[in-house]
Amino acid sequence: MEKRYQYYAFISCSRKDEKWAKVVATNMANQPVADVKYCPECGAKATKTAKFCSECGGRF
Ligand SMILES: [Zn+2]
Repeated sequence: MEKRYQYYAFISCSRKDEKWAKVVATNMANQPVADVKYCPECGAKATKTAKFCSECGGRF
């Protein structure tokens, strides 16, 4: 919750640079930060609830 609020505030403050804000907003849409974690072995992105890495099979 807190994290989402921070990102929202960031976009609001960046209205001057709408191009950048749009990029951030797009990235947010593609990668919901709160629901993602990264594999410590290979760095692959995985859902927060995943138990194994889809790339290397490493255990989280
Ligand atoms: Zn991995």
